[in-house]
Amino acid sequence: MDKANCRDKSMIELNDEYYMNLAIEEAKKAYEIDEIPIGAIIVSNDKIIGRGYNRKESDKDATLHAEMIAIREACQCVGGWRIPNATMYVTLEPCSMCAGALVQARVNRLVIALKDEKTGACGTVLNIVRYEKFNHMVDVKFGVMEDEAYYLLRTFFDNLRKRKKEKRELLYNKQANIDF
Ligand SMILES: [Zn+2]
Repeated sequence: MDKANCRDKSMIELNDEYYMNLAIEEAKKAYEIDEIPIGAIIVSNDKIIGRGYNRKESDKDATLHAEMIAIREACQCVGGWRIPNATMYVTLEPCSMCAGALVQARVNRLVIALKDEKTGACGTVLNIVRYEKFNHMVDVKFGVMEDEAYYLLRTFFDNLRKRKKEKRELLYNKQANIDF
């Protein structure tokens, strides 16, 4: 690889971190409203054309994953269902619904922070974005700012468990008081 290519490659990696950081900022917005912290950004020609964070619980809608919200915004931005020259940055590996939507929208590239061992549909549990019989395949890169994405999810679930435990204890104490 010549020097120019090396420079291009490191520029892409720097850009990937820069945009993933913005996806993590989106995930934090979900965290603030008690949603599982997942965020997504769509970039086309160095412009952000879509962003989203998980709002499934708040809006009581099974389709309101961060990626779906970002894809809808990007479609509105470009005025069509195809999103050309686009890269999605997402903090957790997309599920089968979101991976399907990425193929439908013809997104070129997908950068993922963290694998999802339970529902990841971009190579972990199944692979919808690289399925050869489909008419479109997405380039996938894993592991950009993986630690930050993991830390956010881990903190969220630790707090959730703590809150549940406190609630159980409170209930137990109330019952204990009644018994006395
Ligand atoms: Zn999803």
